Amino acid sequence: MNYRSTRGSISNSLNSAEAVIQGLAPDGGLYVPVAFPKPTIDLAAIAKLTYKETAKLVLSLFFDDYTDAQLDESIQAAYGQQFDDAEIVPVTKNHEGSHYMELFHGPTLAFKDIALQMLPQLMVRAVKLTDVNRKIVILTATSGDTGTASMNGFRDVDGTQVIVFYPNGGVSPVQLQQMLTQQGKNLDVVAIDGNFDQAQTEVKHIFNDVKFGEELKLSGSQFSSANSMNIGRLVPQVAYYFYTYGKLVRDGVIKLGEPVNFTVPTGNFGDILAGYYAKKIGLPIGKLICASNQNNVLTDFFKTGTYNKKRDFYLTNSPSMDIIVSSNLERLLFDVADGNSDKVIELMNGLNTQDSYTITDEMKQRLDAGFDAGFASEDAIKSEIKRVYDAAKYTIDPHTAVASYVAHQYQQRTADTTPMVIVATASPYKFPETVYEAITGKEVVEPGYAAVGQLFDVTGDPVPAPMKSLFEIEPRQQIVVKPEGMKEFIKNSVK
Ligand SMILES: *Cc1c(COP(=O)(O)O)cnc(C)c1O
Repeated sequence: MNYRSTRGSISNSLNSAEAVIQGLAPDGGLYVPVAFPKPTIDLAAIAKLTYKETAKLVLSLFFDDYTDAQLDESIQAAYGQQFDDAEIVPVTKNHEGSHYMELFHGPTLAFKDIALQMLPQLMVRAVKLTDVNRKIVILTATSGDTGTASMNGFRDVDGTQVIVFYPNGGVSPVQLQQMLTQQGKNLDVVAIDGNFDQAQTEVKHIFNDVKFGEELKLSGSQFSSANSMNIGRLVPQVAYYFYTYGKLVRDGVIKLGEPVNFTVPTGNFGDILAGYYAKKIGLPIGKLICASNQNNVLTDFFKTGTYNKKRDFYLTNSPSMDIIVSSNLERLLFDVADGNSDKVIELMNGLNTQDSYTITDEMKQRLDAGFDAGFASEDAIKSEIKRVYDAAKYTIDPHTAVASYVAHQYQQRTADTTPMVIVATASPYKFPETVYEAITGKEVVEPGYAAVGQLFDVTGDPVPAPMKSLFEIEPRQQIVVKPEGMKEFIKNSVK
């Protein structure tokens, strides 16, 4: 199966291993399947599969350049003891008949682990498949969770180096401690004076800087990306939509073939796009509901068909969703424009030069058929955490609360009774300050580890093992650079 750029011609398509190594297309676009696999998915069989078996099925559809053995080894390595739940993705039922798909049982306690435990496995095997004899330098812009998850996944992986850029002051205390305590000789982590969008934009610039890329190759290295712009991150995420569907069938919530809705807390549009890809290859999904925080550019986009990035940027209590330029939306636009890369180029140029673009009526109609959208304010997030806790003694993190709130609003607004899955993306212990305050109405005495303890005293939920040791490790010194200094930092670090 081949992959092409959303902004380029089919004739430049790559096989899956090459696309995983490349990360981003040289023309600035994102790699997408040239044609989606058209499997005859046997839903009855899916309902019987374990998580690993489901992952195997999905990966072998999209990544058919890898051998069976390579995929098996990758899956064993990615979904092992580092997850604190043998199910990998447990699905929890809540009082209102909603189901929470818990994606946070990996080593860094957020959903990014599902893909970032897998990506290094795919990357090292891609290097073998393609005979690339260079060091792969992974550049990562993070809004908080991708950084730790990619460092954890790539830690001391031979032939790789990871450089992470995060917004200075834009991540939670636990997220910061996690990033600064990752162990590994091949890791760099740098704060930038700016927000996530600036970090992501600069990373894209550096990626597309042909001269810099050539210099790097001469010194025996090559860039790749661990952001959800890399197709190797997106595809592993398709698996949990299938797995959860199967689980709901096993539990008798739905009959085979009946639709399920998913509400997804969204930032860079990677998680929800994986749901869309699952639907494209035959999973019975009704609506995908895009949930945003106060940075609600996507809510407006789905409502109006106009994407306008000229707006205030807010630092919220769900920092991993503090994003205004949602990269993976480009893949959805490409799809609803029937693969018309000229249209995608036109829209993306509009975003660059006029800060906005408007899609055609036809594209809009196709989006309306499959998506809904809503957002949660800071107060709504807190009251949702409290509402769910009081009703079900179930503790949710602020990102999950965004989805939970938006799902609830959607159900009340539309009276759609299709079973709903809320995508739960982080452990509440990653954001103890906000969760504690939401539940008790009081502020924590001190942020960070003390807050974890305070939250435990209230909820009694077991504290995940990686959190217990986190604050015993001496953090690295923080390094801060300006966005325009990122390139220089990379140069020095790669040498
Ligand atoms: C990254 C992240 C999101 C947003 O996911 P996207 O794929 O960027 O849309 C939501 N919640 C948490 C906890 C995250 O880490």
